[in-house]
Amino acid sequence: MSGIQQVAVLGSTGSIGVSTLDVIARHPQRFRAWALAAHRSVDTLAAQCEAFHPRYAVMVDPDAAEALRKRLAGACDTEVLAGAEGLQRIAAHADVDAVMAAIVGAAGLPSTLAAAEAGKRILLANKESLVMAGHLLMAAARKAGALILPIDSEHNAIFQCLPQGRDATPGLDGVSRILLTASGGPFRNWTAEAIAAATPAEACAHPNWSMGRKISVDSATLMNKGLELIEACWLFDVAPSRVEIVVHPESIVHSLVQYVDGSVLAQLGNPDMRTPIAYGLGWPQRIDAGVAPLDLVALSRLHFEAPDEGRFPCLRLAREAAAAGGTAMAVCNAANEVAVQAFLAGDIGFNAIPAVIEAALAAVRVVEPTSLSVVEAADREARDIAALQVARYSSRPLAGGEN
Ligand code: NAD
Ligand code: MG
Repeated sequence: MSGIQQVAVLGSTGSIGVSTLDVIARHPQRFRAWALAAHRSVDTLAAQCEAFHPRYAVMVDPDAAEALRKRLAGACDTEVLAGAEGLQRIAAHADVDAVMAAIVGAAGLPSTLAAAEAGKRILLANKESLVMAGHLLMAAARKAGALILPIDSEHNAIFQCLPQGRDATPGLDGVSRILLTASGGPFRNWTAEAIAAATPAEACAHPNWSMGRKISVDSATLMNKGLELIEACWLFDVAPSRVEIVVHPESIVHSLVQYVDGSVLAQLGNPDMRTPIAYGLGWPQRIDAGVAPLDLVALSRLHFEAPDEGRFPCLRLAREAAAAGGTAMAVCNAANEVAVQAFLAGDIGFNAIPAVIEAALAAVRVVEPTSLSVVEAADREARDIAALQVARYSSRPLAGGEN
C-alpha cells in the first residue's frame, strides 16, 4: 500500500476507538482518520472531528447527527451522515483503505460485512459480528480479498504466533492446539455467593483492562472468553476441541500456539490495546504504539490455572452454542447482549445472565445461517425470548407496589 492509509474508525468514541485515534495521531505521515462513526455521543465525536478533520462523521442516532452538524458548522468541513446506512457507506467507500470495526455488539455486523464485501483491510475488534455470522463474514472476505486482522488481544497474539502464509492468511502447519488466555475477570477469586450478589460497578471494575461496559461484564461472566473461543474458530479455521482456555490473571501472555514438536510460541506485552491496534494498522510492519516496554523482572511471576465452569457457566453455554453450530451462536450472542444490558440497568442479578442465555438457547430453533437476514431473524427471536426471561428474573418491583 502506498501513500497515506485512509482509515474509517467505526465506534470511534469507545475504548477501542479512542486508542485507535491515539495510534493514528502518532503517525500522521502514515494514517489519516478519513471517517469517524459512533452512536450518539455528540460531544466526543465533535471533539474528535475538530482534532482529526475527517472527511465524514457518522452518528447513527438522527437527532445526534443533527446536533453534530450544528456543532461543526463553521468549525470544520466534515460532512455529517445520519443513520446505520451511513456506517455501511463509509465502510465500503472506495477511498477507504482500512476499517477499524470497533462498534460494540450486533450493531457492528452490517458495517463489518460491508467492509468485507468491499475487500477492505478490516481491523476486527467487534467480535460479536464473527460470533453471529462467522461463516458469512469469512466467506465474504475470501471472495472479495478482504484482509481480516484480529484486534482482540488474544487473537492478535495467536495471529502473530501462527505460521504466516505468503498472502497473510495464517496457516495451521504443525500446529497442535491454540491456548487462549483469560484474565479470569474481577470475580476470579470470589465465592459463588459473592458472585450472585455482584453489582454492575463491581463487574465493570476489571483488574487489568479499561474497556467498555458490555465487554467488561462479558469478562466478569467469562462469556467474553466463550465469544473469543468462537471467534478463534472462525478466524483460524480450527475446531473448538483444538482451543484450550487457560486463566492467566496478569494478562501479560496474550495467548499461545502449541506445535507438534513441543514448541509453544506466545506473544507477551503490557495489557494495552494500542499494541494489537498498532499491529493491525502497520501490518506487515511494526510501528510505535506508545506502549511502555514490558519489565519482566518487575513482574517476576506469571500464573496460570484452569477456568472454573461451575462458577462461570457462560463459558459452557458458549461451547454448547459452538457445538450446536448454525444460528445457535447468533442466539447466544443476542441473548447475552439483552441480559448484560438488563444487568447493567439494574433489572436482573448477575446469575440471571447465564439463566437468560440458557433459556434462549433452549427455545430458539437452530437453522443454517445462509444469509444475513436469516442471522438477523435468529438474533431478533433470541432477543424477544431473552426479554421475556429478563422480565421473569427482574429484581425491580412490579407496578402497583407488589413484588
Ligand atoms: P465501548 O462501549 O467503549 O464503545 C462502543 C462504540 O460503539 C462507541 O463508539 C459507540 O458510540 C459505538 N456504538 C454503540 N452502539 C452503536 C450502534 N448501535 N451503532 C453504531 N455505533 C454504536 O466498547 P469497546 O470496549 O470499545 O468495544 C468495542 C468492540 O471491541 C466490542 O465488540 C468489544 O468486544 C471489542 N473489544 C474491546 C476491547 C477493549 O479493550 N475495549 C478488547 C477486545 C475487543
Ligand atoms: Mg480479548
